[in-house]
Amino acid sequence: MTKITSKGQIWLPVEIKEFLDVSDGDFIYFVLDKINKSVWLSNVDSGTTNNESSRLSRNQITIPLKIRNELRVTADDTIIFDYDESKQNVYFKKKLDTLTCPVCNGKGLKEHTCIVCRDKGVVEKEFVMDEIAKVLRIGRKYGVAFVLNSTEFDESKRMMVDIVFPNISVRGKSYPQELLDKFEDYYQLRIIEDFAPKSISNPDKFMNPTDVLLDEILSLLRTKEAKDTVFSWFRYERNVFNKDE
Ligand SMILES: [Zn+2]
Repeated sequence: MTKITSKGQIWLPVEIKEFLDVSDGDFIYFVLDKINKSVWLSNVDSGTTNNESSRLSRNQITIPLKIRNELRVTADDTIIFDYDESKQNVYFKKKLDTLTCPVCNGKGLKEHTCIVCRDKGVVEKEFVMDEIAKVLRIGRKYGVAFVLNSTEFDESKRMMVDIVFPNISVRGKSYPQELLDKFEDYYQLRIIEDFAPKSISNPDKFMNPTDVLLDEILSLLRTKEAKDTVFSWFRYERNVFNKDE
């Protein structure tokens, strides 16, 4: 583990330096995996179009700005290094906070794979749309199809426009409906949390939506539990008119 400096540099651990067989002055090439938000390292230029490089200097390398932006890392974020399964290649990624999987409570599901945590029991807190991009891709592996809808047809403008809260839905015959609803609500909750307008004076608090808007938001959710959670966000815990303010 190593922290990013304000100039976007990181220390290259000795183990990684030896693995890559590089020394001071050598170039290290980066290949970005956009879906997994990880960066593969190599001592040879693979010629991939999105390739970026950095020269090793006093055991430090600079992560190119484009890659830092893509990983959403800034100064003081922690970077972790790891290898692929066959230990042929090394990559680094941002160290994310984790939380106990709210769908299976960290215990996994009987008879089925928990899609949200892939049976790891914990979920890495990443940017919601990154998490969703991943599940759109891997769902098929578990026989479920996630669909994300973020636009709708505007009659007056006669064109497609972005909707305030993208809508995620999941279908699949390999899971009982009750579980699919829980998966769907997990991602929908994350979307609502991220896309809801926040208070200007306190970005941790949501703006107070009208009853009509709140009903619209709640209609995106399937389970009573999720609806109750979101209702409490807007009406008790985190609204700007909360008595704590
Ligand atoms: Zn889980």
